[in-house]
Parts: sequence; C-alpha cells; structure tokens
Amino acid sequence: MSSQETQQSVATVTVLPSARISGQRILADTADARTPIFSAASGERVGWQETASASDVDAAVLAARAAFDGWRGTPAAARGEILKRVAVLAEAGREHLVGLQMRISGKPRLEADTDVSDVIACFSYYAALCAQGAAFQAEIIPLPDDSLAAAQCYEPVGVAALIVPWNFPMVTTAWKLAPALAAGCTIVLKPSEITSPAEHALIDIVAEAGVPDGVVNIVNGGANVGALLTAHPCVDKISFTGSTAAGKQVMRTAAEDMKRLTLELGGKSALIVRQDADVEMAVGLAVGGAFTNAGQMCSATSRILVHDSLYRKFMAAFELAVRALVVAPPDADNAAMGPLISEAHRARVRALLQQGIDSGARVAFSGRIADVAEGGFFMAPVVVAEPSADNILWTDEVFGPVACVKSFRTDEEAVALANGTRYGLVATVVTRNAEMAEHYRMRLRAGLVWVNTPQLIYPQVCWGGLGLSGVGRELGVSGLRSYQELRHVIRPAA
Ligand code: NAD
Repeated sequence: MSSQETQQSVATVTVLPSARISGQRILADTADARTPIFSAASGERVGWQETASASDVDAAVLAARAAFDGWRGTPAAARGEILKRVAVLAEAGREHLVGLQMRISGKPRLEADTDVSDVIACFSYYAALCAQGAAFQAEIIPLPDDSLAAAQCYEPVGVAALIVPWNFPMVTTAWKLAPALAAGCTIVLKPSEITSPAEHALIDIVAEAGVPDGVVNIVNGGANVGALLTAHPCVDKISFTGSTAAGKQVMRTAAEDMKRLTLELGGKSALIVRQDADVEMAVGLAVGGAFTNAGQMCSATSRILVHDSLYRKFMAAFELAVRALVVAPPDADNAAMGPLISEAHRARVRALLQQGIDSGARVAFSGRIADVAEGGFFMAPVVVAEPSADNILWTDEVFGPVACVKSFRTDEEAVALANGTRYGLVATVVTRNAEMAEHYRMRLRAGLVWVNTPQLIYPQVCWGGLGLSGVGRELGVSGLRSYQELRHVIRPAA
C-alpha cells in the first residue's frame, strides 16, 4: 500500500491508518489488520481501517504523556485561540464534513448539517470559556485563621482516553475533545470502528488549527483496542460513550487505577403527552424523538405515554406523520430518515422487534422505505401499541426506529410508567400547564427534561444521565471540570 493511497479522501476509497501518533500516520504491517468501512446508505464498501496493535496503543498513550507538560503549560487563552480556529475551520469545511456523514452514516442532509453545527458550537463555547479565563483561575477560600491563606485550583487531569460510538461520531468526539483540550489534557481518541472517517476528518481540522503534535492521538479499532486503552496505566481519565454493557466493563477497568471516569450510556426515555397537550406539537416531538437518526439515539423517546382522552386523536395523527416520513438515501428528494448503521445492527433491531411481537406486542402501524433506497441498511419506522410493561420493546434500548405508545389516566401513573426503568437520560413533557410541567420536571428521573421543545442540545447545558445511563456530565462548565482535578493549597498569608 502506498502512502498516497492512505491519504486519499473518503470521496473515493480510503485506508485509514491504524493510529495517528504525534502527527505521524502509523501503518500496520499486514492487510490482516484491516476492517472494512461501509456506506450505510448504499451498503457499499467505501474504505478500510487498520487496527491498532498493543504497541500502537502504548506509543499513543506515551506520546500524549510526553506532550502533557507543554500543553498544560500553554495559557488557557492560547488554547482557546486554537479551539476557536477549529470552529472556524469546521465552518469552512462544513460541506466536506456534511458530505462525509451523509456518505458513511447515510444521515439526511439536515441531520448531517446539524451535527456539524453542534461541533462548531461546542468548540466555540469552550474557546470562549478559555478566553474568559475564570474557569481556570484559582479561587481564594476564606479561613478562620488570618495568618493563613487557602485557595482552590483546577488543574488538568492528565492523559484522557476518549472512546466514542458510531451514532453521532463527530458530535460525541467534539463534546469530549473540546473540553479536554480546553482543560489542558492531552488525548488518545478511539473512534468507532464503524464511522472512523468522520472522527479522522475532525482530527485533521484539529491538527490544521495548530494543536501541537502529540496532544491529540488516535488509535483505530474495536472493543479490544478500547480495552487496551482503558487499561493503560498512564491514562488518567476515561470518557466513554457507548452501551451500558461496555460502560460497566470500562468502569471495572478504571477501578484498577482509580482513573477518573465519565460514562454516557444507554437510555429508554419517555415522552409524556398530558390531556392538555397540543396534539400537533406532541406528534411532531414524537416523530423527532423516536425517529431522528433512525432512532439510533441514546436520547430516543421510544416510550410514548399519551393521556387516555387524547389517545385516538394522537395515534391517528402519529400514523399519518410516520407514513409520510421519507425513508431514503440522503441524496433522495425529501429524505427524512436514513438507514441503520450496519447490516449487523439492522439484524439486531429486527430480532428485538420480532422478540417483542412474539411475546405479545402489537404493531399499530409502520412507515415504508422509499423505492429509491436500494442496497442500504434501511428499516421502516414501526409503532407498537400498548405493549405490556415487561415486553422487551418497552424495557430495553432498541436503538432503532421502533417506538412504543401506551395510554395513561393520571399524572401519577404517567410518572410511575416513565420512571419504571433503570435508565435515566432524558424525558419530554407536552403540556400547556406550566405548574404541571414543573411537577413532571421534579419527579421524572432524567438528566435533562424538555418541556414542549424538541431535543435541543446546547453546549451551555450539561448532558448526562442517572442510573444505568451513566456517570458524570458532559458539556457546560461541568464538562470542563470533568477534565480537571480540584486541588487546594494552604500557605502563610502574604
Ligand atoms: P458500544 O458500547 O458497542 O461501543 C462504543 C465504543 O466503545 C466503540 O468505540 C467501541 O469500539 C468501544 N468499546 C466497546 N467495548 C469496549 C470495552 N470493553 N472497552 C473499551 N471500549 C469499548 O456502543 P455502540 O454500539 O457503538 O453505540 C451505541 C450505544 O451507545 C447505545 O447503547 C447508546 O445508547 C450509547 N450512546 C450513549 C450516548 C449518551 O450520551 N448517553 C450517546 C450516544 C450513544
């Protein structure tokens, strides 16, 4: 394989290197270390990625360790300048980044474009925090003894291992990378093995923006490479987004060295439609909450609770909306829902649906796949009515375009149904009653509650869940703090 071949853009066929360490692309010695990358929209192979070896992982972590003192010593304002440049370059490269997400993940243009806007907003936000400076300054702590002075300081944690899934590859990477860089951490990123061209494209921009060599390194591969990275003794912090099952393993590994840990895991979130809801709005929020990104969202509101008095009206309007969804490749006219990410994932989602049906769940209606969708991993949206509370479609994260609707009679019943899960990521409430909206906000076990709004995410507002949905918070000042250690000093007063 020539180096020219490895440099080709994903517009044609790409071979991504096994690792990028201190600015160098590391190529594996053997073609056995390659796995294919597919276009979810066409099913075609569009490239390959090489898999990092144990020694690649070790070299990447050591490179990050070696770069740490220099990067932490760079003033926060200067780090912020570089983050700002990342945002500017991402804006300049928007069309390329959007095209990449459409090509690899099959996202409709609007969704792919929103992802890029989220990346830009995230880097801009942390750039502004760096410029403003307060989050990095020591804070004086008054003591009862005048002869002494105390202060608390926020120091970068050290080397951060960032592990991301495939559903929002650029966004999830930005949510980790921007605050980690702002804090002064150095990084080893392990992209998803399914969508790595997206993460590599973002890292190209980070390098172009002037992040010094060694500060951001990449190792490619799947769970095994992730496991090697999380176990490395020179990693100080792990930020992991993925399934709850893998998150538990990561947590066990982190315990060995007491590594700092942020886990963003699965969900089984509820959307509640009260008796005073605007039904048209509720249907719009249900379609967006259940079928954006083909339902492959940790925050998918796949459990829809509708007040008995509105149930028929809601279901009739929901059916019209779901049947009108154009499920098609991103370049098709009006494409509104893309494919699932892989053949294997589609088989998993279909098997879960069948399991739910076999144990009594009733499909109320489904959408359809557009005729133009050939070869990709498409699946029509499905709505299940009144599953039992122990049906797998009601209890488990499907991570695909399957939504369940259940009716309720009282607010107490709605809250109990919504909270009847060990997950706790998000919830949506649709009501015209502000007092009841606050009642739900307080009682729902979720990291974020949206009231009469779509699933808007701002970098100013933290993201993270309760229970099996994870540990810690991303975004906002808390997201920055998760890459900092709080330390104190006490000394004689000046
Ligand atoms: P996954 O857990 O299979 O993989 C996620 C990432 O972790 C991948 O890069 C994978 O290679 C790596 N990995 C897997 N096992 C590992 C291990 N033992 N040690 C270290 N790394 C390991 O998840 P996925 O299928 O890629 O993504 C879907 C899951 O991610 C869903 O459960 C979804 O809810 C969750 N998710 C959560 C959020 C959130 O913010 N809470 C956001 C997006 C996705």
